[in-house]
Amino acid sequence: MSDKTGIAWTDASWNPVTGCTKVSQGCKHCYAEREWARLTANTKATAYYGRAFTDVACHEDRLDQPLRWSKPRMIFVNSMSDLFHEDVPDEFIDRVFAVMALAEKHTFQVLTKRPERMRRWFDVGHDNREHAVGQAMREIAASRGGDDAGLPEWPLPNVWLGVSIEDQTTADERIPLLLQTPATVRWVSAEPLLGAVDLERVAWPNKCGHRVDVLRGGYWNKAHCIALGPSADLGEAKGGFTNHSDFPATLDWIVCGGESGGPKARPMHPDWAEDLQSQCEEAGIPFFFKQWGEWLPVNQMTDVEIGELHRSNRIAKNGEDQFAMDEIFGTHCTVPATVVGTDGSCLAVTDPMAFRTGRGGMTTFRVGARKAGCTLNGEVRQDWPAYEG
Ligand code: SF4
Repeated sequence: MSDKTGIAWTDASWNPVTGCTKVSQGCKHCYAEREWARLTANTKATAYYGRAFTDVACHEDRLDQPLRWSKPRMIFVNSMSDLFHEDVPDEFIDRVFAVMALAEKHTFQVLTKRPERMRRWFDVGHDNREHAVGQAMREIAASRGGDDAGLPEWPLPNVWLGVSIEDQTTADERIPLLLQTPATVRWVSAEPLLGAVDLERVAWPNKCGHRVDVLRGGYWNKAHCIALGPSADLGEAKGGFTNHSDFPATLDWIVCGGESGGPKARPMHPDWAEDLQSQCEEAGIPFFFKQWGEWLPVNQMTDVEIGELHRSNRIAKNGEDQFAMDEIFGTHCTVPATVVGTDGSCLAVTDPMAFRTGRGGMTTFRVGARKAGCTLNGEVRQDWPAYEG
């Protein structure tokens, strides 16, 4: 399978594991599952042919691919699975990390929706995991005729660990686990973004109702407190900021995007993306707006672009003026349109409740991911974390 990828934040994908099972709403229209349908019908795609998507397989024969790529690359690990899926044995993950340690010229981007397994894998008996990866490094290096594998620098400096989230619930569940996992760079992919996410108020586990700022490492007090008070809840006004001197880590990079991949893709409300962008800007954290997905909100379009979506059935020909035709025959919207609320619900444009006060209704048009593009309020915002590439 080709290592090329259309993902804007990486150069190549490497799939030592294939197959997966769904864990949350963000998986509903999973890219890997959609690709699977095409690959499984191809007799030459031996890793996929005749296999069910839920049949998780570890491919020993793919392990050394990055070691054969001579030019340094940014590599997305497992676009066709989740490395920390429960069916992937610890020992195989050891070997994947061993390859990443040996291929130190590359930067590896790991993304999971199973951060509890990721944390467990790192946790095993203090430094035992590091030793297991070191042992796997020596075995892999020896099998390639080398004997100078040494010990891995831990955590691996060329591995970025990230979690996928889609709304506040998944942010609350997954980000604290990521922050408690050793990593050089920690990142979040909010794609497909299906709801508002407040990274300044993420629920911290086992501390009833306490919400922390995962961009700064501390928490915002309720409005009446300057410091050391109860934390501000979602939507509440903020008071002073209390630094957590023992906060395990903060996030280094936020990627955001809408859902692509066909007619069933769900629209992203522009407020969700704009809020994430301003949270990152205010905290000085790099923000990467990947794409709108299939649907483009009306507030991101010019009058001309909106006009072009509304046409009469009569198409101009031989020098006729389309606008004149439209005037005469009347226009209708030529693509599907919906009004998405800030709660993610979608109503028809003609629904009397679509624009009711407080719903935040925003008309969006299904123009397709290519046309919708990656411009947020007139700007392409694709920033990267500081790293030594
Ligand atoms: S975790 Fe990722 S690869 Fe697995 S089903 Fe969900 S979206 Fe697909």
